[in-house]
Amino acid sequence: MRALVISDIHSNLGAFEAVLADAGEFDRVICLGDVVGYGPDPEECVSLLRELPNLTCIMGNHDAAVLDIISTTHFNHEARKALNLQKSLMTKSSLDFLSELPEKLLLDGITLAHGSPRDPIWEYVDQGGIAWAAFEYFESQGSLVGHTHTPAIFIESADFKVRLLKPESGDRWIPQERFILNPGAVGQPRDRDPRAAYVIWDLEENSFLFKRVPYDVSAVAKRIEERGIPSIQARRLNLGR
Ligand code: ZN
Repeated sequence: MRALVISDIHSNLGAFEAVLADAGEFDRVICLGDVVGYGPDPEECVSLLRELPNLTCIMGNHDAAVLDIISTTHFNHEARKALNLQKSLMTKSSLDFLSELPEKLLLDGITLAHGSPRDPIWEYVDQGGIAWAAFEYFESQGSLVGHTHTPAIFIESADFKVRLLKPESGDRWIPQERFILNPGAVGQPRDRDPRAAYVIWDLEENSFLFKRVPYDVSAVAKRIEERGIPSIQARRLNLGR
């Protein structure tokens, strides 16, 4: 059984299609939230996601914001502008789909959250201290999170420390200790590598394979311009940050 693990598609259809074309065969899909926000094609991304086999998806802060579940006052001006536009581009069916997503879920012995197991919508697990605190908030061996847009593995070690691995494309990792794993972002990477990021979880081997795949960033930048989304979103995709 192979699960495609993706997060933070952020309305970037070009990146999403590149990931699906690169991933090969998979039996199920785990999406860690932020399907919408920032990019030009929210409706197309939600529709494509819903067609995938055995989908489990959880809610991200941008998904919640587009639904008005959470206030957008914490979002920067550009992100807010993009969200208002996105709502106008989406069908009721897609908005209903987003509104039914859970915030946190235990699936096949692994805890899913967009931000962190402690604060599923908002918290960024981007340093050891935060990971250490978050380990208290789930019982399973591992947790999969998104939100930082950066591939990472935080490992709980016996000496009360947290080890951080920064996996590169092609790295395969098999957990021994408890862990919090982030596959990186499909649609807006922030580790200065513009390639779309994803993970293949092999449930028999219990291994996690990290992958990066290039896509046509300039075509997505053009779509961003056509939609009237602030050009900073296109610049970010080029820079991978
Ligand atoms: Zn995000």
